[in-house]
Amino acid sequence: MSATKDPRPVLIAGGGIGGLAAALALVREGYRVKVIEQAGQIGEIGAGIQLSPNAFAACDALGVGEHLRAKAVYTEEMVMFDAIDAKRVASISLSEKFRERFGNPYAVIHRADIHGALLEGVKATTDGIEFLTSTKVVHIEQDDDGVTLIDAQGGRHGGQAVIGCDGVRSAVRQQYVGDSIRVSGHIVFRAVVDTADFPEALRFTAPCIWVGPNCHLVHYPLKGGDKFNIAVTFHSDQPEEWGSMDGDPAEVQRYFRPTCEQVQLLLRIPKAWKRYSTADRNPIEQWTFGRATLLGDAAHPMVQYLAQGACTACEDAVTLGLALRARAATGPAHSRCTSAPAWRAPRAWCCRRARWAASTTPRASNA
Ligand SMILES: Cc1cc2nc3c(=O)[nH]c(=O)nc-3n(C[C@H](O)[C@H](O)[C@H](O)COP(=O)(O)OP(=O)(O)OC[C@H]3O[C@@H](n4cnc5c(N)ncnc54)[C@H](O)[C@@H]3O)c2cc1C
Repeated sequence: MSATKDPRPVLIAGGGIGGLAAALALVREGYRVKVIEQAGQIGEIGAGIQLSPNAFAACDALGVGEHLRAKAVYTEEMVMFDAIDAKRVASISLSEKFRERFGNPYAVIHRADIHGALLEGVKATTDGIEFLTSTKVVHIEQDDDGVTLIDAQGGRHGGQAVIGCDGVRSAVRQQYVGDSIRVSGHIVFRAVVDTADFPEALRFTAPCIWVGPNCHLVHYPLKGGDKFNIAVTFHSDQPEEWGSMDGDPAEVQRYFRPTCEQVQLLLRIPKAWKRYSTADRNPIEQWTFGRATLLGDAAHPMVQYLAQGACTACEDAVTLGLALRARAATGPAHSRCTSAPAWRAPRAWCCRRARWAASTTPRASNA
């Protein structure tokens, strides 16, 4: 395949879900890939995520759909409760009709399992992949011949192109776009608990949301039903900065004071919380800058309650792979990699969606 004519790797900044999906899409098209990750190891921590049908379609296209299906918990419905009076407000069936209509199920999964499925896929496809951990990307140089990625220790890594998969605070985006993140003011506390500790009456095989004033709580089963994911969101009345830290239960209690006994019970279960201050960015029209392009949260970060960031990162990777294939016979390698017109169309779609989300999201006055 023509990709092998240029033996230099495509550099992928960031080894999260987007980075691994991109790596898989590229190795399947015959490219050598080097994933450069700032963390000490390639892996996902954190809790659960919801997988809508598009995630299954994307992972099927990447050849890892079966890995994903083996780990996912399939949900029967989505349920909304009133967090004040505990009444069931609405539900959406996710059963056979839903699956027929969208071609795939709606499911929930632990982050480590989707990340693991992508990693297994990469390893099974090729040995032409290199992982570099504990390496933080700080700058990119590029010219007509190639790119050089510079890390925080001054190390230089050459390649034919770079894909910025380095998340909301992307260094690649910072260099080429230079826009600011928008701290949403929405704080998420997350925990994964044993099912034995979860109230029996609330063990629905469903993403359930309890909605209250400036706050909501989501729960769903994970790991074949052995665990439950609990995610609490509230709108902070304090100045916030993007980032994560250990969470103080007293802070959650303060925002959930008016909620019903069921919600209070759920809030008391986790012995430890992780606290995330979330952010997104204004949509941008251009994601490709010569030999550098953006993917996943680096390209279109969105608020977490759309439950689409990981799903669309996988879709991005599929689209990039298809664009590379379509252009395989034409143009120099880097233009195949970063300028294929097909690569731009879904982005625009994503941007429109992100813009919609942005326009409907209330903002706190944040630091
Ligand atoms: C609370 C919460 C709930 C969510 N729920 C859902 C959901 O239900 N469904 C869904 O689809 N999405 C969900 N999302 C969104 C989803 O987690 C993200 O959209 C997705 O993880 C984005 O993947 P990514 O690889 O683009 O970025 P990230 O996951 O942020 O990965 C970026 C990687 O790059 C590395 N990195 C960063 N900077 C550098 C650097 N300078 N050099 C080298 N490496 C670097 C990071 O260490 C990380 O490994 C949720 C998000 C949150 C916060």
